[in-house]
Amino acid sequence: MTTAPPSAVVLGNRFARELPELALPWQAEEAPDPRLLVLNDSLATELGLDPEQLRGDLGLLTGTRVPEGATPVAQAYAGHQFGGFNPRLGDGRALLLGELTTPDGRLVDLHLKGSGRTPFARGGDGLAAVGPMLREFVVSEAMHALGIPTTRALAVTATGRDVVRESHLPGAVLTRVAASHLRVGSFQFARATDDVDLLRRLADHAVSRHAPEARDAENPYLALYEHVVAAQARLVAQWMLVGFVHGVMNTDNVTISGETIDYGPCAFMEAHDLATSFSSIDTGRRYAYGNQPGIAQWDLARLAEALLPLLHDDVEQAVPVAVTALEGFVPAYEAAFSTGLWAKVGLTGDPDDELLRDLQALLQATRPDHTSFFRALGRAARGDAEPVRELVLDLAGLDAWLDRWRALGPDGEAMDRVNPVYVPRNHLVEEALAAGTAGDLGPLTRLLDAVTAPFDERPGLERYATPGPAGTYVTYCGT
Ligand code: AMP
Ligand code: MG
Repeated sequence: MTTAPPSAVVLGNRFARELPELALPWQAEEAPDPRLLVLNDSLATELGLDPEQLRGDLGLLTGTRVPEGATPVAQAYAGHQFGGFNPRLGDGRALLLGELTTPDGRLVDLHLKGSGRTPFARGGDGLAAVGPMLREFVVSEAMHALGIPTTRALAVTATGRDVVRESHLPGAVLTRVAASHLRVGSFQFARATDDVDLLRRLADHAVSRHAPEARDAENPYLALYEHVVAAQARLVAQWMLVGFVHGVMNTDNVTISGETIDYGPCAFMEAHDLATSFSSIDTGRRYAYGNQPGIAQWDLARLAEALLPLLHDDVEQAVPVAVTALEGFVPAYEAAFSTGLWAKVGLTGDPDDELLRDLQALLQATRPDHTSFFRALGRAARGDAEPVRELVLDLAGLDAWLDRWRALGPDGEAMDRVNPVYVPRNHLVEEALAAGTAGDLGPLTRLLDAVTAPFDERPGLERYATPGPAGTYVTYCGT
């Protein structure tokens, strides 16, 4: 008996076919000495790909070997960056290789980041350094393990080419998987062309991929918009519950799918504070932790503007339609946030908003480590309040709140299933990235091991559950 040859990876080119105006055929730059740094075996298997085959096919992972039938493209998009509109951003250092159909029938994008300059590169070199690509790998996989919608990381491959930043750094390509790479900025780009047919085709493509139920609505494009508003409201509520700060919520980094995308200056908050902001370029704290729901709404208003010609034949009449739909954000966000927070404190049924508001005020006033607080609260539900009392200075305030909460009978076991022990803490991410850049992937492997099973407390991993040294942690964009 002969074994069947490994099956070839088949990629579709639906985006490029349906939306040629947004798809610039392009190819990845050669990688002089490709070396696989990390491969996501379980994701590969989930996608119907053979991890062993991928290990032997770095050309696929870096885009230098294009599977038959595929048409790699740089995607065009526009975007508001820190509030200012740029009509032409696009993939300056990224390529959509094509779409893959998973064994369970989903269509996903296979995408590269750091694959060389494209016509959208402007002043950029089109490259990415090993460190930031490893950051996207570990943080996006942590988010997935936390149950938060996100693009996934399939692999990081060192290219063997140096990238010039403040110093020379080893370069890498990230192989990314997403439900799609459609963004608010994709619609802004189409709208800015004044080509309503293109805008409609883009919306049809988005409906088909992300909101098929909208097709049967009286106004499918309004239903698509409502779908995106609801998906983003749920997503940002999940970020807020876990203490995630995205850092650069420009409209080109807000997906139509409702997945988190673009792990640049992102970080997990340690001391709970609504003003937490890490990004070196976010000097006005526009994208601070506590601003994220409001900013998501602002970004969704830009999507509404782009969609106006599809919402009503008469643009004047389209505006109130869009405003009403956008007003759905706040109740959707608040429902997702308070239901989620109610679960984090181990309770079921209708949330008691006053109890939750008092908890948030207590957290803001006393700033305990966000992740440790909720995990320690689980121990308080099981009868040992000391761990949580060690985290909070206002003991009288905490004890009064604990008494009211305990009277409702919180379930400590259930809390441990929703409150992570391990998140990618900033000092541990930095440690793993520095070692990975220097060629030692041990710290990254161990960090990944902790954060990809975040609810499962394991002996020996105490340092992954411990806050870093206090101080100002700074993250950088566009690296
Ligand atoms: P980001 O902040 O990663 O979402 O990127 C914003 C825009 O800058 C996108 O159009 C990127 O493709 C582009 N960009 C970021 N870094 C580079 C780079 N090194 N070379 C070319 N384009 C880049
Ligand atoms: Mg981006």
